[in-house]
Amino acid sequence: MTNPAILANDLRKSYGEKLVLDGIDLAVPEGTVFSLLGPNGAGKTTAVKILSTLVTADAGAIRVGGHDLAADPQAVRAAIGVTGQFSAVDGLITGEENMLLMADLHHLSRREGRRVVAGLLERFDLTEAARKPAATYSGGMKRRLDIAMTLVGSPRIIFLDEPTTGLDPRSRHSMWQIVRKLVADEGVTVFLTTQYLEEADELADRIAVLSDGKIAAEGTADELKRMIPGGHVRLRFADPVAYRKAAAALSEAQRDDEALALQLPSDGSQRALRAILDGLDSAGIEADELTVHTPDLDDVFFALTSTSTSTGTGNNAPKEAVR
Ligand code: ADP
Repeated sequence: MTNPAILANDLRKSYGEKLVLDGIDLAVPEGTVFSLLGPNGAGKTTAVKILSTLVTADAGAIRVGGHDLAADPQAVRAAIGVTGQFSAVDGLITGEENMLLMADLHHLSRREGRRVVAGLLERFDLTEAARKPAATYSGGMKRRLDIAMTLVGSPRIIFLDEPTTGLDPRSRHSMWQIVRKLVADEGVTVFLTTQYLEEADELADRIAVLSDGKIAAEGTADELKRMIPGGHVRLRFADPVAYRKAAAALSEAQRDDEALALQLPSDGSQRALRAILDGLDSAGIEADELTVHTPDLDDVFFALTSTSTSTGTGNNAPKEAVR
């Protein structure tokens, strides 16, 4: 890899007895979107906090933006922006005032600060709401304000911790557009955590699945899908006699006697389908319904995180609270 924006080697972290990160390696090339995918409680936020200097790792070598995190955390902080569950948005003051505070923090002159803030408010569709207290904003608007505040400092690397958790579908799609534009227009590197497979599939160049403190798998969405033999063909019959005959003809099929359905492992190719249909033809049977299931990220996720699914990927409550 020519220019890794983020490199971590054998990252470890425990909270008391609780082992959260059990030696993880990460390598994120510049200008790409990397997604750390895992169920609630997997350790995603902990990883973001460590990589963004907010929490110290127990062990591991980390470089962010070319800087050694342990030796020069200040340089790392100057290169990154962090948004998400520990939002910096102050609800008591207006969106614009939040932005101007960030401009002050980054030592922009008054005039330059106002220029940058006005541009970002416009870009994130917040101009109209700029003079209202941030506490009155919708979930989507707060997230947009949060990202806009991060961009005041022109970071080259942005950490987005569960940026769409708790958002409605429309706001989620608008957040995806924002992330895509950031990478395409400005070449920033995005480190994104999510519990949504669809989000990782939509946005990430590479995905790492975090499970039980380890990276269970890493690759592009397509590479991950190919790792899992989830593909199958399902045949359904209306007539129980035809079903039983088919089950006898296709002896390798998994039976679902109640639904009168047979399931056969298959890559979904024409050749594989023809073999199944030939098998049925030669027994003189016709299926009433044939469906092809190709593995998706859901299959990958559940196959890889099977031991920790009880932590519940359905918990969508946002952890942040805007004062
Ligand atoms: P995720 O972001 O994937 O939901 P977290 O990184 O927030 O996961 O948490 C991972 C685990 O570490 C959880 O079991 C959580 O309870 C625990 N944990 C996180 N922060 C602390 C802390 N400051 N003290 C003790 N335990 C913590």
